[in-house]
Amino acid sequence: MQPLPYSPRPEAAGWRPRRLLITRSARGFAHGRSIVDRAAALGVEIVELPGDRLNLDFADDPRRAYVDAKATLAVVVAPPSKRKFQPIAPSADWRVDLAEGCPAHCSYCYLAGSLKGPPITRVYANLDEILDALPAYLGQGMITTRSAHRAHEGTTFEASCYTDPLALEPLTGSLSTMIAAFGRWDADAQLRFTTKFADVAPLLSLDHGGRTRMRASLNPKAFARFEGGTAPVGRRLQALRQMAEAGYPIGLTIAPIIAAPGWEDAYAGLIDDVATALHGLPELDLTVELITHRYNPGSKAVLDSWYPGSALDMTGANRVTKRTKFGTEKQVYDAATMRALHTCFERAIADRLPHARILYWT
Ligand code: SF4
Repeated sequence: MQPLPYSPRPEAAGWRPRRLLITRSARGFAHGRSIVDRAAALGVEIVELPGDRLNLDFADDPRRAYVDAKATLAVVVAPPSKRKFQPIAPSADWRVDLAEGCPAHCSYCYLAGSLKGPPITRVYANLDEILDALPAYLGQGMITTRSAHRAHEGTTFEASCYTDPLALEPLTGSLSTMIAAFGRWDADAQLRFTTKFADVAPLLSLDHGGRTRMRASLNPKAFARFEGGTAPVGRRLQALRQMAEAGYPIGLTIAPIIAAPGWEDAYAGLIDDVATALHGLPELDLTVELITHRYNPGSKAVLDSWYPGSALDMTGANRVTKRTKFGTEKQVYDAATMRALHTCFERAIADRLPHARILYWT
């Protein structure tokens, strides 16, 4: 088949990488082979690697390397460490990864501080092995399981820590597989994912059993310049409504909250848009997570190299240094800015989304 032109805009009709690499071990898993079939049908160049090492022959120029890496999808086998889940406060009891990396181009991307090397997207072929690890964690966890106001969510598993799973869904089907697995799992457990994408059509007819919560990750339209390659906010809100109509519990991840000029009106407008988009839905189960923008010297250096000239302010203005429990430092908004932001959100949500449950502010 003649390769189709590379689509660098992941939100437009689904992401199509320029090439897909699959390792020898990944070819041993039916799920890995099905991802190859989907990509090949879209005209993506397929490279079958002779072993399990990813040969990443990217340019020395960081900008070129970034562009090439973002156009590359690798199908690999998740190592055993990925099947030993880690706590993920404040979102969920446990982090479960179906992939690592994301094709979008957000100038604040939180992955910049956590992924090593060029930002290729790796998806896991051994999804069944990852799913098989879930039951051992049932009833355990320190976040929702031990929380008075969230215990009813059951043991929670967050799938968006290292990727945007909906961005990859047209190519992988991994998210649908995971949602269906939670739907079949007759247990007090919940899958959670958050996304800046909107193509939820494959998820709507799944037998999800109410055991997956989708959250739309949102910022105001006025800040779209910080979220390259993601779906327009209006489409994300339509998708959220469709998911609620399909019986899924839903939520908002307002993240990262950016105190750029005009933020008061911009975020008030966003909450208005949410209220309008969800208007009239009966028995709405809606949560809100509020996450302010932060960065550290490492993530700033990576982001400066990926997005030189970005308008996102990381100069240190209105910031203080906060020490994490791991002994590292991050730049967060100062107390006055935090207070102003927090007050504004509490008021707007109480006023426009009175039934929403705020899970945390950070
Ligand atoms: S959508 Fe999320 S994971 Fe993807 S680039 Fe943007 S912030 Fe990063």
